[in-house]
Amino acid sequence: MSQSVEVTAVNDQPQQAKTNLLGFSASKLGDFFEQIGEKRFRATQIIKWIHQMGEVDLDKMTNLSKDLREKLKGIAEVTLPEVVSCQDSTDGTRKWLIKVDGGSCIEMVYIPERERGTLCVSSQIGCALDCSFCATGKQGFNRDLTAAEIIGQLWIAADSFGQFEHKAPRRVTNVVMMGMGEPLMNFDNVVDAMNIMLEDNAYGLSKRRVTLSTAGVVPALDKLADVSDVSLAISLHAPNDELRNELVPINRKYNLKEFIRSAADYIDRMPDNRRKATVEYTLMDQVNDRVEHATELAELLKDLPCKINLIPFNPFPGSEYKRVSNNQLNRFRDILANEGYTVTVRTTRGDDIAAACGQLAGEVNDRTKRQERYKRKLDEAQPVKIIEG
Ligand code: SF4
Repeated sequence: MSQSVEVTAVNDQPQQAKTNLLGFSASKLGDFFEQIGEKRFRATQIIKWIHQMGEVDLDKMTNLSKDLREKLKGIAEVTLPEVVSCQDSTDGTRKWLIKVDGGSCIEMVYIPERERGTLCVSSQIGCALDCSFCATGKQGFNRDLTAAEIIGQLWIAADSFGQFEHKAPRRVTNVVMMGMGEPLMNFDNVVDAMNIMLEDNAYGLSKRRVTLSTAGVVPALDKLADVSDVSLAISLHAPNDELRNELVPINRKYNLKEFIRSAADYIDRMPDNRRKATVEYTLMDQVNDRVEHATELAELLKDLPCKINLIPFNPFPGSEYKRVSNNQLNRFRDILANEGYTVTVRTTRGDDIAAACGQLAGEVNDRTKRQERYKRKLDEAQPVKIIEG
């Protein structure tokens, strides 16, 4: 600290922040190398070092000439978010608390299953959408995560499982953008990070194994298919506008009809016509778990190629809702199944370490004013800025 103050005083020039290469997709990294007068193919070398071999020290990237490494070190770096803690649940679920610039912490969860391992990644510090049943929403909102902070979560998980060592089996087989935050409110950075997940020279995940979940930011969802074809999950939680306005306030801006239409359009534009959206429905006792709700939901979804994932509500401190009873859960599932839907029930995992669905809270330095501005951004329904490529 004192050293950099002295340097600034002597040079009378503020130190230029270095560019963090961690969050650059292949095309953006290619642009970066062109801008500094180098060949675009350097991007492939760097991406492989960072995301296939787990190397973040530019000095150790030995297929780059010494001169190039020196040049890069003057202007760039590879900086990861900091792991504050890592907890393991008795059922094998692992939860990380990760510190990001500005002092807030986000949470990330890994859920192992017999045939796959799913990493639930955060996209924002907190969330401005404030769904009434969600622990994250209660934390307020600080800011969007950068692409580096999003892909950095996958890097941290891969490293912790020894995935960068050639012989270690791949433990993270699936990524779901379902952690803290609404991914479509952080469109560009989320798309960049997902591109790195899919990139053959990075993690090489199939687009079927990367899922973006949205609560219904319709203008952004309408544009997603222009730049991505990952799997889609929609957070519905209610079968009619009246109830959804209460549970998921963004519904007052973009109602169910618009949301379902937008999701159907996205699925329709997928190159693989077998693809379906996943409908997420959190069941809360006496709130949205009645027979008529199931019937209404079946009718609402009839034109959307989808499967339905029922999530028994996981209570968190201060939450006003209760978990659905098993009887009601089974009845709800059977009604939908009888209507021809594929229905799964999400097993609660990581409950003992507060890592279950809807329980992620992190440590958000809530900026109330920023949150207000952010909400205004929603109200004004600004067109979402789309990146190329
Ligand atoms: S459910 Fe999703 S969109 Fe709603 S407040 Fe929680 S994180 Fe945000």
